[in-house]
Amino acid sequence: MIATNLQNIRAAIAKLSSERSFAEPVNLVAVTKTRSIAEMRQAIDAGITIIGENKVQEAQKKHAELNRQVEWHLIGHLQSNKAKAAVQIFDVIESVDSAKIATALNVEATKQGKIQRIYIQVNLVHEAQKSGINPTELLELIAYIQNLPHLQLEGLMFIAPNLEDKSQLAAIFHDMRALYDDVIAKLGSANTLQHLSMGMTNDYPIAIAEGSTSVRLGSAIFGPRNY
Ligand SMILES: *Cc1c(COP(=O)(O)O)cnc(C)c1O
Repeated sequence: MIATNLQNIRAAIAKLSSERSFAEPVNLVAVTKTRSIAEMRQAIDAGITIIGENKVQEAQKKHAELNRQVEWHLIGHLQSNKAKAAVQIFDVIESVDSAKIATALNVEATKQGKIQRIYIQVNLVHEAQKSGINPTELLELIAYIQNLPHLQLEGLMFIAPNLEDKSQLAAIFHDMRALYDDVIAKLGSANTLQHLSMGMTNDYPIAIAEGSTSVRLGSAIFGPRNY
């Protein structure tokens, strides 16, 4: 079932990509929180090369067990006391949203002799319960991160609100792409942002149409989660 789901998702992504005006290809991150090692291996055997996990502890266990060559992305909120383990496991940390966590990651990456690839998570619509930096503080955080030699900023990450209204959702993704383009323009030759990570199972077609370069899919690949 996982292989068939992936086949259908790939076809959908290819079609949506061909219908939009953005030139970038769309990456697929398989979100494997709560999924077993066996399910993860099935997805990898069916061509998945990027894994997304929400929790450091869960990822740590799976990382030790999986025994497959894949790129690991942290997509859940990160606390400073987990920075060490996060730097040990993850190729990309998508959820950086403060100078504090950036500082902690830079310290750990320095200790481990690693350049840690990161994205900044943006809270575009000011949802109180969500992580992410306010857009008005984004450039300041980017400037701060540019001075941390062991961090490499590669993208922005966004989690859309759960909305019934598709046109409202499209407008929000559109605004997020506009913010991404605006930041790239402002950075000029200092720009290192290659990715705009947005779109999940329920909204990825809209996210791709509006300019996502990376979608994070769990349920679409593995079926509904039980929690
Ligand atoms: C769980 C999760 C996803 C995937 O969710 P689905 O609806 O199962 O596709 C994507 N991004 C983040 C940040 C998540 O926590």
